[in-house]
Amino acid sequence: MALVVQKYGGSSVADADGIKRVARRVVDTKKAGNDVVVIVSAMGDTTDDLLDLAGQVTPTPPPRELDMLLTAGERMSAALLAMATMQLGVQARSFTGSQAGVITTEQHGDARIIDITPSRITSALAEGDIAIIAGFQGVSQSTKDITTLGRGASDTTAVALAAAMGADVCEIYTDVDGVFTADPRIVPTARKIDAISYEEMLEMAASGAKVLHLRCVEYARRYGVTVHVRSSFSTKTGTWVTADPATLATAQRSTNSGVRGADEQGEQMEQAIISGVAHDRSEAKITVVGVPDKPGKAAAIFEALAAAEINLDMIVQNVSAAATGLTDVSFTLPKTDGKTAIKALEKAKADVGFDSLQYDDQIGKVSLIGAGMRSHPGVSARFFAALAATGVNIEMISTSEIRISVVTRAEDVDTAVRAVHTAFGLDSEQVEAVVYGGTGR
Ligand code: ADP
Ligand code: ASP
Ligand code: MG
Repeated sequence: MALVVQKYGGSSVADADGIKRVARRVVDTKKAGNDVVVIVSAMGDTTDDLLDLAGQVTPTPPPRELDMLLTAGERMSAALLAMATMQLGVQARSFTGSQAGVITTEQHGDARIIDITPSRITSALAEGDIAIIAGFQGVSQSTKDITTLGRGASDTTAVALAAAMGADVCEIYTDVDGVFTADPRIVPTARKIDAISYEEMLEMAASGAKVLHLRCVEYARRYGVTVHVRSSFSTKTGTWVTADPATLATAQRSTNSGVRGADEQGEQMEQAIISGVAHDRSEAKITVVGVPDKPGKAAAIFEALAAAEINLDMIVQNVSAAATGLTDVSFTLPKTDGKTAIKALEKAKADVGFDSLQYDDQIGKVSLIGAGMRSHPGVSARFFAALAATGVNIEMISTSEIRISVVTRAEDVDTAVRAVHTAFGLDSEQVEAVVYGGTGR
């Protein structure tokens, strides 16, 4: 008997019909002879709706109460799915994250899992029940308060439980057929990737491909959990996220596009240079104008931001103008941290001695990801040329070994993603990407 962990995202359980459809899938998996643990997200856009509601009551919702409110969303779908499953004649029991033993740090809104003690889940399975767990939530070890794990984090609940319980497979069910070479909502000719390595998936997720939560991929890599991303609306095989070289090699041969690496040193496998293009519209850019070009000034800026617990992404410092001895420092950060960052910098103004601050939340980030670019020259040139040909201006650039990212105007993101996707030969001849549901919110 295998242990199967399945996670169903918000669009899969958007309404009563969706919940009944998911219940049938869950029951089929159980009837095939498996133990089944299910993690669910809140129905449709419930989390956003609850956030809007809180915003109507107060402009600054207290984080503890916000977590109490938001976790109700996942609890609703867990209870409804248990009911629908029992209606099909199969025993099921729903659990909150806390009941399932998801123990976290105390940081509301962005808590980290520190331990999983799933004894109640293990006993439910032993009694023949399907266990249905509310995703995205846990309980703080120190304060005993209910916490949430960050937007999109039901994926992380699923992988963490799969790791803790030694599951045979962790299936992430969503509204597209797997991980594609770009967001199918922007590029209808995007290709499904049959298998992808943890490191490439990490870069895709970190660059905004929200099909998998970043921390879920980190967790899967650390504990060696094989993840199968697939659609709850079809029975097609999705994308395997794995470190298994055989799976990766077979998949590369079938998914590979026009861009191929040289068949070097008698290697059997043609290497895909690029795995995909990701985009992100959730960041803002702050420019600190007129910073004295002296040792210690950058440190003072970033110490102020670190003290306010701001996570930064790209950082750029210009060459100082010789005449003035002043320079500008720009960086990107989540839009949601914008106000806090500006406040922290205003406080440090006298210490740093800068002139002014500019805040811009109309930016977007476009990234090209591929392990093959490590050993392949000319990738940046082709990337920038593709942007230039469509008239998209580049405001910032950053690279890692297997990624190139640029910041552009937010309104240019779709054009840029399509141009880069085409320039690297990633378009499929036929439209194979189907978006089955969801609002893309
Ligand atoms: P769920 O509610 O199931 O967790 P999400 O909305 O969080 O679903 O993630 C699925 C969505 O991710 C897709 O509908 C798609 O628009 C988006 N997406 C972004 N990049 C990609 C990509 N490279 N491959 C597939 N989907 C992507
Ligand atoms: N419902 C939460 C969110 O919308 C968590 C999730 O869907 O994974 O962010
Ligand atoms: Mg998601």
